[in-house]
Amino acid sequence: MQLYNSLTRKKEELVALEPDKVKIYTCGPTVYNYAHIGNLRTYIFADVLKRSLEFEGYDVTQVMNVTDVGHLTSDDDLGEDKMEAGARREGKSIWDIARFYEEAFFNDAEALNILRPSIVARATEHVPTMIELVLRLQERDYAYETDQAVYFDVSKFPDYTKLAGQALEEQIIGARAEVQVDQEKKNPADFALWFKAVGRFANHLMQWDSPWGKGFPGWHIECSAMSMRYLGETFDIHTGGVDHIPVHHTNEIAQSEAATGKQFARYWLHAEFLIVGGGEKMAKSAGEFLRLQSITDRGYDPLDYRFLCLQVHYRSKLTFTWEALDGAKAGYRRLKSFIDQASRAGGTEQPWMQEYRERFREEVLDDLNMPRAMAVMWEMIREANTRRELGVLNLLYDFDQVLGLKLSEAAASAEERELEPEYAALIVEREKARAQKDWTRADEIRRELATVGIAIEDRPEGTVWRRTD
Ligand code: AMP
Ligand code: ZN
Repeated sequence: MQLYNSLTRKKEELVALEPDKVKIYTCGPTVYNYAHIGNLRTYIFADVLKRSLEFEGYDVTQVMNVTDVGHLTSDDDLGEDKMEAGARREGKSIWDIARFYEEAFFNDAEALNILRPSIVARATEHVPTMIELVLRLQERDYAYETDQAVYFDVSKFPDYTKLAGQALEEQIIGARAEVQVDQEKKNPADFALWFKAVGRFANHLMQWDSPWGKGFPGWHIECSAMSMRYLGETFDIHTGGVDHIPVHHTNEIAQSEAATGKQFARYWLHAEFLIVGGGEKMAKSAGEFLRLQSITDRGYDPLDYRFLCLQVHYRSKLTFTWEALDGAKAGYRRLKSFIDQASRAGGTEQPWMQEYRERFREEVLDDLNMPRAMAVMWEMIREANTRRELGVLNLLYDFDQVLGLKLSEAAASAEERELEPEYAALIVEREKARAQKDWTRADEIRRELATVGIAIEDRPEGTVWRRTD
């Protein structure tokens, strides 16, 4: 499988650390609000990655974190904790907020047929592991303590900018542009590993005892600690959205590799942003945003949205418009109706279909090219229709292991497929009439069946029927 690795900026052959096993860490949601459809796009991408690896026969372990503490309103250690802001906004306890939005997130994920990760790790339940990692960094002289926090010293880690590929000066513009909160910071790009419950955080609602007094972990250390805890110090793939490249993932690499002296994740995969018409990026903190519910409220199926996401490569921006969603809905409906029809018609796999299996797989292997894989699928459906050989269902269900569109649910149920005995008898009678070239009677029966919602079609392999209502 070829995957585009943000670290090397090229497509690379995936070579798993252990044969046949792939370990993935997926940066999970910060549970202070609903996920917006942009966030969900990134998780659909991670799901397609996981499904594609399983399709290829890998045994996949996927860990996803739930950030329920420490993610500040700015990625650069500025602002307040997003969880606290959420609790204040809704007048609820921070714990209620965390559990409520975590559940909402996994409900959305389920509606989108996103497979549940093997392990879901809440930050608040892994604080001792984080403290241990910070201590390790202190021992190795990569971390220093001030009155306000414990920081990572980026000047000690020469490869700090390797993921973003920018000069450090460019990378820290964000940090410099705003007030530098802690005067004791050695370098503007140094980031907090641990925040002390002092100053602006004196009343922080979530506090743990630590060697540096009461406080709470920084967002970046959470992901380093939890990923290494479950996947080992070096693992295969790390995923997230492109916004994580310059700060969050850059910091994760620095902390982890400084602590272990080993490579952290080997392949870094990033999903491009979803933008809403007009070029705006969709940000939860900006207040107004579209979530899955906004889509279902308008009568769409969550999987219409999944279908839309599959039509755009994960490394391209996806411009969301309602027209585009209408298009996806129509396409998805066409696909399901073909499956329904094919399941009634029956038919077996034909040699010509094999080529499509190969071509579909090639597109999956080429950096998860879903738009092209879908095009291969449509081409196969067209050919099946032209040849009137509809035995492609098993192939479509195989493809669906990757697509995740619940295609097998679109097939007519066995019950629906069974024809009432009196209509079945009519079809048999019609076949006899045709054999005797009694076209009048054959047409009469066709019309009679049409009035009860059964359409028939004469195929080389016999007469097939389908319900029209
Ligand atoms: P958060 O809950 O803010 O930590 O974000 C969850 C995930 O969504 C992260 O992987 C982000 O990179 C990703 N993300 C944030 N905004 C967008 C967007 N507009 N389009 C796609 N992914 C996004
Ligand atoms: Zn993360």
